[in-house]
Amino acid sequence: MYSHGIHAGAILTIDLGAIRDNYLALRERVGAAACAAVLKADAYGLGAAQVAPVLAAAGCRDFFVAHLDEALALRPLLQDADIYVLHGPMPDTEREFVEHNLIPVLNSPAQLAGWRAAAQRAKRRLPAIVQIDSGMSRLGLTPAEFTAWIEEATATQRIELRYLMSHLACAEKQDHPLNCQQLDAFNAARARLPGCRATFANSSGTFLGEAYRFDLVRLGAALYGITPVAGQANPMKPVVRLQARVLQTRTIERGDHVGYGATYCALGHRRLATLAVGYADGWMRSFSNRGCAMLDGVRLPVVGIVSMDTCTIDISALPADRLQPGDCVDLISAEQPVDAVAALAGTIGYEILTSLGNRYQRNYLGAPAEEPVRLSQAA
Ligand SMILES: *Cc1c(COP(=O)(O)O)cnc(C)c1O
Repeated sequence: MYSHGIHAGAILTIDLGAIRDNYLALRERVGAAACAAVLKADAYGLGAAQVAPVLAAAGCRDFFVAHLDEALALRPLLQDADIYVLHGPMPDTEREFVEHNLIPVLNSPAQLAGWRAAAQRAKRRLPAIVQIDSGMSRLGLTPAEFTAWIEEATATQRIELRYLMSHLACAEKQDHPLNCQQLDAFNAARARLPGCRATFANSSGTFLGEAYRFDLVRLGAALYGITPVAGQANPMKPVVRLQARVLQTRTIERGDHVGYGATYCALGHRRLATLAVGYADGWMRSFSNRGCAMLDGVRLPVVGIVSMDTCTIDISALPADRLQPGDCVDLISAEQPVDAVAALAGTIGYEILTSLGNRYQRNYLGAPAEEPVRLSQAA
């Protein structure tokens, strides 16, 4: 276990062993398809520099990030792995992809042209994934652009096409009609590139059945403990625990207000604790009067508006003196998992994790003991 920030107001514990176990469980589940790990946004806020070596040691050979800079940061940690960049090259960045052996996802005719020109300069075929839009209207070639591309005589000549790719819009809702529609569109495109390997499913898509898995699935959320199927029990191991420290406690009486805007008014005697965590730490302002902390199985509701650096909870349900300054309560835990926390804030687990701040004491569990985990940002 490696820690930094031991004076922090809150403690973020990330279970790297659980991430590895989630990866292995998903690999078991998908059978023949290969399992790529998605490490964009610093591995969903959990620390790409810590997560990447653990997954590589578990046998993962394919990694996706969103930005070129994220790929450049990972390259030294993942010497033999394939690193794919979802956004593809911004204009005039192809050279860096080639230099660092990074594989772009090409999403537009302009990116295709740029990569072909880079291949010409390099005097060799360069690897790439080509993404088509199968119904999300976000990134990828339109059907007309795809047709124009494959009808061009030189279509794949200079590009070593690793995978044809697309992305699902509603995969976590198993009965959503768009899932089948996107699958049909993707299969129709694949049929025009015989022999080409394919990658389609994210974590949730992996749970839609074998037809969605193809040759490579791209796993993000489920690795990090977020539930892949809406409305069902979460099969993944929890990865994150967030504990906040108490700064001070107080009692208030009927008619007293709490926090900015005086949005909470006590109906009677209450005991409160002020926690050293706020929206600057990713404990979102939308938890105001809605979220809760947990301790000893007792729910401790957030009262008033969440401030930048503090938030106040009602601890009246606990025995007097149970909480002292410096003691911790749980904000995210097995009892109140990230998906439940997200629901309270009207968001999704992805946003909770990627919002986690930089002021926490970060503890990594399950990292190789002999090798202290290095932090991506200088601590
Ligand atoms: C983020 C992302 C993924 C991973 O999705 P999860 O739902 O986190 O598994 C896969 N593919 C693409 C294109 C993505 O942007």
